[in-house]
Amino acid sequence: MAPKIKPTPMMEQYLAIKKQYPDAFLFYRLGDFYEMFYDDAVKGSQLLELTLTQRNHSSKNPVPMCGVPHHAVQNYIDILVDKGYKVAICEQMEDPKQAKGMVKREVIQLVTPGTLMDESAGDAKENNYLTALHQDQNGKMGFAYADLSTGELKVTELQSTDALVNELTSLRTKEIVVDDSVNQDILAVIKKLKILISTQNSYEEKAEFSYAVQDLTSNLEIEVVKHLLMYLTVTQKRALAHLQRAIHYEPSAYLKLDRFAKRNLELLQNSRTGKKSGTLLWILDATKTAMGGRLLKQWLSRPLLLKDEIEQRQGIVQNLMDNFFERNNLQDELTNVYDLERLAGKIAFGSANGRDLIQLKTSLSHVPQIRYLLSQLNTDGIYNDLLAELDPVEEVADLIEQAIVDDPPISVTDGNLIREGYNDELDQYVDAMKNGKQWLADLEEQEREKTGIHNLKIGFNKVFGYYIEVSKGNASKVPQDRYQRKQTLVNAERFITPELKEKESLILGSESKAYDLQYKLFVDVREQIKDQIKRIQKLAHALAKLDVLQGFAVVSENHQFVKPELTTQGHSLEIKDGWHPVVEEVMGRQSYVPNDIKMDDDQTILLITGPNMSGKSTYMRQLALTVIMAQIGCFVPATQARMPIFDQIFTRIGAADDLISGESTFMVEMKEANEALENASENSLILFDEIGRGTATYDGMALAQAIIEFIHDHVHAKTLFSTHYHELTILDKKLKHLTNVHVGAVEKNGELIFLHKMQPGPADKSYGIHVAKLAGMPDSLLQRADVILKRLENDSKKVTHHEEADEESAATSVIKEDESSVSQVDEQLSLFQPETVKLDSQENELLEDIKTTNLMSLTPLEVMNKVFEWQQRLTKKGKRK
Ligand code: ADP
Ligand code: MG
Repeated sequence: MAPKIKPTPMMEQYLAIKKQYPDAFLFYRLGDFYEMFYDDAVKGSQLLELTLTQRNHSSKNPVPMCGVPHHAVQNYIDILVDKGYKVAICEQMEDPKQAKGMVKREVIQLVTPGTLMDESAGDAKENNYLTALHQDQNGKMGFAYADLSTGELKVTELQSTDALVNELTSLRTKEIVVDDSVNQDILAVIKKLKILISTQNSYEEKAEFSYAVQDLTSNLEIEVVKHLLMYLTVTQKRALAHLQRAIHYEPSAYLKLDRFAKRNLELLQNSRTGKKSGTLLWILDATKTAMGGRLLKQWLSRPLLLKDEIEQRQGIVQNLMDNFFERNNLQDELTNVYDLERLAGKIAFGSANGRDLIQLKTSLSHVPQIRYLLSQLNTDGIYNDLLAELDPVEEVADLIEQAIVDDPPISVTDGNLIREGYNDELDQYVDAMKNGKQWLADLEEQEREKTGIHNLKIGFNKVFGYYIEVSKGNASKVPQDRYQRKQTLVNAERFITPELKEKESLILGSESKAYDLQYKLFVDVREQIKDQIKRIQKLAHALAKLDVLQGFAVVSENHQFVKPELTTQGHSLEIKDGWHPVVEEVMGRQSYVPNDIKMDDDQTILLITGPNMSGKSTYMRQLALTVIMAQIGCFVPATQARMPIFDQIFTRIGAADDLISGESTFMVEMKEANEALENASENSLILFDEIGRGTATYDGMALAQAIIEFIHDHVHAKTLFSTHYHELTILDKKLKHLTNVHVGAVEKNGELIFLHKMQPGPADKSYGIHVAKLAGMPDSLLQRADVILKRLENDSKKVTHHEEADEESAATSVIKEDESSVSQVDEQLSLFQPETVKLDSQENELLEDIKTTNLMSLTPLEVMNKVFEWQQRLTKKGKRK
């Protein structure tokens, strides 16, 4: 919507600025409002529920307009940015009253989803990562991310689009900075993830940039970091002093959890609600600080691979579990520590106020006690590393103590910030404000004494300010060297002295001067602290670590988790009485049935069968969660646990179960499965939950079998494979590294009761109809299903079981056309229908009759009769037996 007539000078200015920010909402400051015009106004008014008005509404082409009051602007910015838009804040750069012509205006900040820093916008325990991508000629990717509020800056090289997607989703970035080097295919993938793409094609060589990249060796990484920093500079338009030196990281240095695994395992986000409740994070988060909360999330996204590092964490967790009182004291101290990372960010950003500095001081004041507590516990040196990082940054604490009052206001320009005694000049101003009158009275008294003029008095008028008035008769007594005549009245003379003038300016200007000076001193203090930001950040990180670990101790104690023993020799795995920490928490300890998971070195595949709803999926996830908990250094939900360190976890959930993703096509399922087959190593864990469900029975089963065989012969990863194709259970005859387990169920009075207990050997069938019954389906329907089932099982001789078959034939053909072996089906039915298991000739006849009856050729009454006859035949048969 471009203007059609010549715009006013103001609109000209607006359009010139808007041109520089075509992809952002331009908030144009106009007096007490920020206004939007044209398309911004139309769209903005909808998104923000503002009234759309018009400028120049009398003209032919009025300009659409809407506005928000300046004091509430943050709220509106947050809403837009949260929805994935950018907002350019355009301020008046001079006082409109003093401006000649158009008021000068400039964009002072471009707020974007990846650079939003306002606390109210997000959970304090949430990082907001801006990411960046740059490619070299060979397509190799440099990838960086930064959190503007905490100063974290990390960079790596990525080998594949898939690796990129994993990083993007695990960081949950809302915005990525790219340049022209990034190819279209990759951009298309990023778009699909609904991440805002911003472009930054060049950068300047700045000192801060060189500082940030000094530890990097790869050109690709240096390039991408500089692009990222340039984007931050351009959008934020201020110093980025708190950004930490870029740290190279290796995604492969951590347990690899692809995005499907993270989602399926519900580590951070409940896949139904998107919330924290019902996740592993929910169980494990007993952190006392926002920094700890954020770090825990990072740890959950990147569990460790090195035994030493894991055991270091375990050692601290154990120690804190053993020392209840010290731990409690530690928690009390941590509770009083504010978000140091974000405070450091605000200080560097120049947005910290007096209260922030007091929070910083308060936080720092708890460090010595924390150090003391740790040194008490540090008998075998486990806290050495932490102690080395727990720097109380005393200079900063002292500086704030000396300079800033205990209870400063939010505003930094209205005084009451700086402590008395910090600055002489300021003290005088404050004194002058408070004691101005008294001063004058004192001066008057002194001057009377000095001059001997008893009626000397000090007065004030607007023209001359303060003066000393002496009656005409005494005028000759004033000391000529100090007194300067200012005004002669009929019977009095008025004088000023240098001292009086000095005090006058003190008194008159004291208030505004005090405010100005306070602000100046405050900024000065803030600048001094800025020099120590790296130390504060280091301290923050150490406190965050300590916080997460004390949280692990708390939850491990409360939930009776046990310290897992990590083996680096072989791949055997043994978990005694393990449980799924989230499911257990939700349903309560008493109702949960703990389960063992045992896999020897050479046992790679557990084939899990059992009725629907019996606990197969829970059992599988339980293992994955246990592995993750172990590898972040926490204790695990079991009475005893020994396990290898895994390098990757893959989870693939059969399409029918995967209702949440909305992409549950069979194709996706197969793609995901393939990814696991391609990438898993013998040190990986694969969870295949009812894979092959998304297609017709036979090809589903065929694929499931082929996948199992492939893993068995080529991948060798520890694999839990649940299936409702219980026909697959005979694979244990052929595959020597495969073991059958099943979830037990018993029937009581025709009802199926799940034991939720894993037992060796295969399940006997899948009990689908029983589950349908549990779900309350009508009896008639269930009976009908039963009949169909029997017919299928009887009729179809395709699915067979080769009890007697030799290894080779069993291996090659679970699914086989074979007339000779129907017996398995019958056997399987025996648990629930002992009396109707074997279909005799009579029953077969009856079934055949049902099958072939052409209902369409009968009248309804005839159908009734038919059904009655069938029933008669069945009941007679039943009675006979
Ligand atoms: P499946 O995958 O076999 O269909 P799920 O693992 O989804 O079954 O489990 C179904 C429900 O059974 C769970 O939601 C939970 O309420 C319950 N359950 C699972 N495992 C256990 C257990 N070990 N003890 C008690 N209840 C369990
Ligand atoms: Mg399941």
